[in-house]
Amino acid sequence: MGKNDTAAFEEFLHLSEQYGKVSETGKQMSSRFLELYCLYQIAASLSDKMELHATVETVRHLFKRLFSLDHFTLLLVDEETHELRVKNHFGPRSLVHQRKSFPLDHSLFGRSLQQKEPCYLADLTAAGDEATADLTEKNGALVCIPLQSDSHGDLGTILLHRGEKDSFTETELELFARIGAQISRVLDKILIYHHTKALSITDDLTRIFNRRYFNQRFEREIQRAQRYNRALSIIMVDIDFFKQFNDTYGHLVGDEVLRNTARVLEKNLRQADIVARFGGEEFVILLPETNKSKARRVAEKLRSAVEKHRFKAEGNEEKLQITVSLGVASFPEDSLKAENILAHADKALYMAKAAGRNQVGYLKDEKQAEDIPHYRFATA
Ligand code: GH3
Ligand code: MG
Ligand code: MG
Repeated sequence: MGKNDTAAFEEFLHLSEQYGKVSETGKQMSSRFLELYCLYQIAASLSDKMELHATVETVRHLFKRLFSLDHFTLLLVDEETHELRVKNHFGPRSLVHQRKSFPLDHSLFGRSLQQKEPCYLADLTAAGDEATADLTEKNGALVCIPLQSDSHGDLGTILLHRGEKDSFTETELELFARIGAQISRVLDKILIYHHTKALSITDDLTRIFNRRYFNQRFEREIQRAQRYNRALSIIMVDIDFFKQFNDTYGHLVGDEVLRNTARVLEKNLRQADIVARFGGEEFVILLPETNKSKARRVAEKLRSAVEKHRFKAEGNEEKLQITVSLGVASFPEDSLKAENILAHADKALYMAKAAGRNQVGYLKDEKQAEDIPHYRFATA
């Protein structure tokens, strides 16, 4: 929605508020305008980036601007724990504890989520201890609006509070139901967008980035390194004798070990480093702003961490062990052409394998690269 549209709506809103004061028809019009305004603003909060934060802020702002409420608290379902957590609020304090998480069948929100419609507690003093146990306000009137969608089920809930009992009207409750449905539609779109995006860049088995994402990132990082003359390193990692490992323990145990190897690598890297699954039992790590000596130290740390790690796999009592070989290459030390460093890291990996595995390989200088075959091509 452009600036002019917003201004026009604000004007409509103002007019409808005035009409609402003088006649019954005016009141209905006012409510209808209010609804349209809310639906429009919520839909308009969807930017190209599909940021959850922007929508959640718009919702908070609308409730604050348009309904005289004493408290507003919005909770969303945490995707990992499947519990409700406070996302934002206004009023003197949040209506429920901000740092706590709440189960979906919680006595306060459970009924509205189950019945898929707003639940109204007209007088909190009469609502019973169980329903109000987690509320920071024990008097007045409370509305609980469920946020749900067909594809994601329960998304969250909105709590509205006025200090005076019986202070919400039937018209308002109907309006809240429609606004809740609109918020849910928008949240649903955001979730679908982010899930689809995550699926297209992560590897199913290990949950780290996939090769497609690595390639995109590598392109961007080499351009940056070259343009601004910044250091950039690559570490290629390949599990030693993994075919034999699978033959001994089975493919499923092998999968579990692959997953856990990804975790060990992640745990031993910085936030800025990108670790991706390159292929079968091979990983690749991109280290921005990292020169060759630092990258060699990181590679050695990773090698040692994997060697020391004892892997557990379901249905297998034994604590399992594996080792990895690594190849390091850096810009500008190994090549003045940043795009060459991936190939050089691959050759360095070949050196580590050829020298006996469970070690870090690296090129002494770029000339040496000419005499060394590619590791992946050699084993393909
Ligand atoms: P080295 O790298 O030390 O030369 O020996 P290797 O046995 O690891 O190398 P090779 O390339 O011959 O075999 C790689 C093996 O990795 C083959 C395959 O069984 C295993 N592998 C690749 N992808 C997966 C996977 O997704 N899950 C499991 N369990 N194993 C995989
Ligand atoms: Mg391999
Ligand atoms: Mg291998």
